[in-house]
Amino acid sequence: MSSIHSNLTALREQLTSAVTLVAVSKTKPVSMIQEAYHYGQRDFGENKVQELCEKQPLLPADIRWHLIGHLQTNKVKYIAPFVHLIHSVDSIKLLSEINKQAAKNNRTINCLLQVYIASEETKFGLSEEELFQLLRSTEYATMKNVTVTGLMGMASNTTNTQQVHNEFKSLKKLFDEVKTSFFANQDTFKEISMGMSGDYLIAMEEGSTMIRVGSSLFGER
Ligand SMILES: *Cc1c(COP(=O)(O)O)cnc(C)c1O
Repeated sequence: MSSIHSNLTALREQLTSAVTLVAVSKTKPVSMIQEAYHYGQRDFGENKVQELCEKQPLLPADIRWHLIGHLQTNKVKYIAPFVHLIHSVDSIKLLSEINKQAAKNNRTINCLLQVYIASEETKFGLSEEELFQLLRSTEYATMKNVTVTGLMGMASNTTNTQQVHNEFKSLKKLFDEVKTSFFANQDTFKEISMGMSGDYLIAMEEGSTMIRVGSSLFGER
């Protein structure tokens, strides 16, 4: 077995039901993506618009492409025709631009709102207060071409597993509150994107529905 095949098999054995594996292929060549695709992987994540746009046309059309990294408003137009899910929406301005570009392409784009849960200062994301403000805004209420399908968060990069548990727990709790307050009767609001190579087992214990795994699948970058 190739290492991608064996890593994929090992990951699949750990996945609890209803958890989607997003294979994070950033910096990795198209040939590695093709290999994972060959073994049945269909969800792939990239963090840079340019890299995503270079790879997408070279690969099978039924791949579901996830944009997981920070997204600049002026780059939304490049991915709007094909992106499956944007994990990193961290402002109303960005969501509004996604809505506009989705409309231009006659489609609806699924988005996750990225929430800041780590104690580190470098991570992007909305605070709880900003999240509620966005969802209550009249601007959001008028958007017809985006569907908010859940929340995304990144835990601190720390060996303190209790802290990582707590940060993921806080995201799950927030998800439940937002679900009750804003999406009670909407089945489309269902995703909690949390967990990477170093912490996906903890994330699944805390209720993740989508893990974004790069180095454990494709090797170190
Ligand atoms: C790179 C990246 C990942 C995957 O990281 P690994 O540690 O390689 O699994 C997940 N999420 C985001 C937002 C990333 O940028």
